Amino acid sequence: MRYEPIVGMEVHVQLLTKSKMFCCCQADVFGAEPNTLVCPVCLGMPGVLPVINRKAVEYTIMAGLALNCQIAEFSRFARKNYSYPDLVKGYQISQYELPLCHDGWLEIEVDGTSKRIRIERVHLEEDTGKLIHVGEYSLVDYNRSGVPLMEIVSRPDIKSAAEAYAYLTKLRQIMRYLGVSSGDMEKGAMRCEVNVSLRPVGTEKLGTKVEVKNLNSFRSVKMALAYEIQRQAETLDKGGTIEQVTMGWDEERQRTVVQRSKEFAHDYRYFPEPDLPPLEISREWVEEIRARLPELPAAKRDRFMTQYGLSAYDERVLATDRAVADYYEACVVAYPDGKKVANWVTGELFRFLKETNTTIESVKITPTALAELLTLIERGAININTGKAVFAEMLRTGRAAGEIVAERGLAQISDTEKLERIVDEVLAANPAQVQQYLDGKETIIRWLVGQVMKATRGKANPKLVNRLLDEKLQALRQLREGGQ
Ligand code: ZN
Ligand code: MN
Repeated sequence: MRYEPIVGMEVHVQLLTKSKMFCCCQADVFGAEPNTLVCPVCLGMPGVLPVINRKAVEYTIMAGLALNCQIAEFSRFARKNYSYPDLVKGYQISQYELPLCHDGWLEIEVDGTSKRIRIERVHLEEDTGKLIHVGEYSLVDYNRSGVPLMEIVSRPDIKSAAEAYAYLTKLRQIMRYLGVSSGDMEKGAMRCEVNVSLRPVGTEKLGTKVEVKNLNSFRSVKMALAYEIQRQAETLDKGGTIEQVTMGWDEERQRTVVQRSKEFAHDYRYFPEPDLPPLEISREWVEEIRARLPELPAAKRDRFMTQYGLSAYDERVLATDRAVADYYEACVVAYPDGKKVANWVTGELFRFLKETNTTIESVKITPTALAELLTLIERGAININTGKAVFAEMLRTGRAAGEIVAERGLAQISDTEKLERIVDEVLAANPAQVQQYLDGKETIIRWLVGQVMKATRGKANPKLVNRLLDEKLQALRQLREGGQ
């Protein structure tokens, strides 16, 4: 490609506070009756005064620290003025010149290579209401008006759709680890805008940038960026110029469409919010917050690798989601063999979650119950295949391993005499296969093991069956060689 794409991202993250940004209305209810979570403050009535939500400030500092930002000692709210029916006051309380956090970075990984994406700022603001279009009418719901939003602005360091995707995924992962947002794009808890420009490879001057909005899934971000990069390259190839416009992503037609041209760009006339005092953030508070930040994904991955000796694959899939990581570690406490537990969690458990389209939060097997199962296998009470069947039943019913084994008579047969009898029967019933073995086709022993397992409905101790078959067949061979 003769052009280098330059991409910057603005991500709005809805914070998981109990109340709204500047009033006491509930902010943590999804899907309530329209206009039931409102008060004079978030309805923008004249004469009311906003009060800053301390938790929202704390969450933003947490995010700022996790994104390696500087936390401002002095920060200010500002009014962003524009007119739209979902914006009750005619302005949004946001931050402009003095954001809460600035100059950080986030490390992403694409195709095994790490790269730092610089973060320009993280600021705090309030959400707007929501418009619902019904036929020729538009209805407005102000429940969301005033819900705390954190805006994270990257520097233009992203160079491809894949990097944008990695950045967004990593950002959501960190928000979830911190517990400051659900990061759910489909529910609007994370909203993303990208700006894209192209410049000929090897040149410095930035090209005209185009903003793309209305991206409400990870997939649409990737698709819209790939489309827009391609579109701009084709335009430039034909000698055309890129217009500075705001575009939207048309999900149905899978293309970007112009929403607003430069002449209609907003002039927000930002000015300091006169109804709120500036925020002074003490260093003590920042250090206190830093001290109780949870372990972040990158640190957890490193620790999983050294502490439990996990492979890069295991360590990655177990640390991606905090709930999964916590579940895994609780299991290791109950059954201290990190590698073995990892195999069960990433293997059997993940398969079940995928098949049933459920999440780790709803899993019915407690860490102690998993430990009991693994102990049964370790002691030889059941073999590994029976173990998997028991595990599946535990996942479905939440019952204990011991109970399932006892009730269904699944205990492994490790009784040598009993197994010997079955082995003899199998050998007697399959003279052709025995002959093949004696003729030198020793791999047939695996088929014979299978027959014994079948005769015991999978309950035989496979190690013992192997040993017995081996002994019997060796004896037969000696008998034949002796007789010749
Ligand atoms: Zn309110
Ligand atoms: Mn914003």
